[in-house]
Amino acid sequence: MTTAIKLERGSDGIGIVTMDLPGRSTNVLNDDLMLPFAEVLQQFETDATFKGLVITSAKRDFMVGADIDRLAKVKTPEEAYELAQAFKTFLRRLEKSGKPVVAALNGTALGGGLELALGAHRRIALNNPSLKIGLPEVKLGLLPGGGGTQRLPRLIGIQESFSLLLEGKELRLDKAVALGLIHELAETPAELIEKARAWCLANPSPKQPWDQQGFRFPKGDSRSPGVAQMLAIAPSMANAKAWGNYPAINHIMSSVFEGGLTDIDNALQIESRYFAACAMTQESRNMIGTLWYQLNAIKKGRSRPEGQPESSVKKVGVLGAGMMGAGIAYVSAKVGIEVVLLDTTQEAAEKGKGYSQGLLDKAVARGRSTAAKRDELLARIQPTTKYEDLAGCDLIVEAVFEDRDVKAGVTKAAEAVIGSDAVFASNTSTLPITGLAKSSVRPAQFIGLHFFSPVDKMPLVEIIVGAETSPQTLARGFDYVQQIGKTPIVVNDSRGFYTSRVFATYIMEGAAMLAEGVHPRSIEVAGQQAGMPMPPLALQDEVTLSLGVHIADAARRDYAAEGKTYVAHPGEAVIRTLVKDHDRIGKKTGRGFYDYNGKEKSLWPGLAEVYPRQPVQPQQQHIIDRLMYVQANEAARCFEAGVLRSAADANIGSIFGWGFAPFQGGALQFINAVGLKQFVERSFELSKLHGKRFEPAAILLKMAEKGETFEDR
Ligand code: NAD
Repeated sequence: MTTAIKLERGSDGIGIVTMDLPGRSTNVLNDDLMLPFAEVLQQFETDATFKGLVITSAKRDFMVGADIDRLAKVKTPEEAYELAQAFKTFLRRLEKSGKPVVAALNGTALGGGLELALGAHRRIALNNPSLKIGLPEVKLGLLPGGGGTQRLPRLIGIQESFSLLLEGKELRLDKAVALGLIHELAETPAELIEKARAWCLANPSPKQPWDQQGFRFPKGDSRSPGVAQMLAIAPSMANAKAWGNYPAINHIMSSVFEGGLTDIDNALQIESRYFAACAMTQESRNMIGTLWYQLNAIKKGRSRPEGQPESSVKKVGVLGAGMMGAGIAYVSAKVGIEVVLLDTTQEAAEKGKGYSQGLLDKAVARGRSTAAKRDELLARIQPTTKYEDLAGCDLIVEAVFEDRDVKAGVTKAAEAVIGSDAVFASNTSTLPITGLAKSSVRPAQFIGLHFFSPVDKMPLVEIIVGAETSPQTLARGFDYVQQIGKTPIVVNDSRGFYTSRVFATYIMEGAAMLAEGVHPRSIEVAGQQAGMPMPPLALQDEVTLSLGVHIADAARRDYAAEGKTYVAHPGEAVIRTLVKDHDRIGKKTGRGFYDYNGKEKSLWPGLAEVYPRQPVQPQQQHIIDRLMYVQANEAARCFEAGVLRSAADANIGSIFGWGFAPFQGGALQFINAVGLKQFVERSFELSKLHGKRFEPAAILLKMAEKGETFEDR
């Protein structure tokens, strides 16, 4: 049977343990790995000829963390506590063996992988620019339960460890070396092992700093005045951003603080208790479900049509070199795709290419890239006004003005040049794809690829399948999105698709409450308390109020053309009033719901006159509920209407697309977590008070009755 642990012992008594979990692409902390490792440890402890241990990995990474599957099965806090304690006991035996243990990091060490390395006496890393180390547990609502919250502060100091522990930051090697987390670098894998072996031979009986007499925390323990002062304000600083929505943050701080009052063994037990508390929270369940399982399923092609051959884009034509086109050109060229960037004037096309130049110049200045790499990437972007240059493109991404006629014109002109098998994608944010495909001579190869701004930063692309889009075209669009390193969700065509449609309900609810006389400050604070990245009125200012009016006008026209009755959202009148009567367009003109003064902004005092405040203000939780229920319910409607194809797409799309409170696990997981029955009941209450938009989607009534959740959909 293949085992996850290979042990080779040299004549010098130094054993090299190579971790290589069978059937997996990376090493994770689980029984398959730890049971054979424990056998090696047993030998190491008892065999006097076994003089030192070097731990390394046969995978690309050293180890990337705990086995989430194992963690997800934990049902009680006791079980979580024992799980953490078992790993810690192993590490204590390793570091107290009286013999040298070296972690030879051939690749990235995250979470439990770094904790394992911290249990070694020395850490030597392969000098590889992509190698990262960090403790990202907090991003899944967890706490590093393998000694991370205790060994790290004892190595680098309490304050320094906070940014790694509380933000889950991943460090590159230069930073890790500067902090003293990595002791030494090696240039080749052979040298890595040689250096590790040599260190073992030269240091026959090392002790961890915290096991030495008179050990002191670098820069002081929890009692020292400087640290105590920092610890007194750290919780309020952390909660100013997190609004108390992330219990792991408080648990991590408590674990570090309490651990910093006592010796390592007590401290490790304290940590296990906080680990157990984190593992049992609804927040960690939400985040693990969505940001681990559903995200991985999406990455593995859950929404990609089956049986379609894999594809990759070699040459892309980007039509329109404005804000979006310039970004799309950059992210494509970055992964080695040839880009033809077309606009109506050469100047505009060059300006679009200039966007990449700007980003790359910054990266070179910060030492994150080199002049040679920058020039190589820029050479792949060809700015032009000539359609002939699109010849040979396997994909076109159209990002011209949001105007049906302009889009129809460029579609025809491009299709006249490109090969018959090329895919044509539109980056429209509002125009239904099936309608745009009417100007295409090959609608089966027409698709929507909805990018988010700024393209180089935003991780999501919403793929929109038109009525005639073929599965092959969808697969090719999906492959391209992954090729440029973004996460694809797949939705069916409809007005506003999925993301814009649900996102709009959030900002419009803010405007509606303002009209009812809710204090704008309460509305804004509620948005933040709810865990949204930006409050609704400030967000409306960012996207501009005039765009809101423009979209509403277009929707009215389309409804009329289709013979349907248009029911205006109560927030619409607010936006029209601000734009038409008060010339308040949004942030770009310095006047919206807020007044802008350089980097400062404050709510426009005139709002109080236009929308007099109710004498009795609603409870803050009521405002939060309105902002969140309205989004979740709209997401459920999208699911019901078949706009969404899976709960995974809904949840990931909401978090990556418009920043839906990550601790809630996404717009549909929000409903699961509240409970279907409770969600339906509260929705009926809200609809009685505030209108039909809160009436629960019919699918929710059925699911509540059957006791179903969105988990399995
Ligand atoms: P923009 O105004 O910054 O850029 C549009 C570019 O298209 C301009 O450079 C313009 O000169 C060029 N153009 C216009 N007509 C053309 C033609 N006939 N041939 C070639 N080029 C032409 O707009 P943008 O913000 O980049 O948006 C472009 C598209 O992306 C729109 O459909 C928009 O709805 C969509 N979109 C925008 C965002 C966003 O946040 N701005 C997000 C997602 C999608």
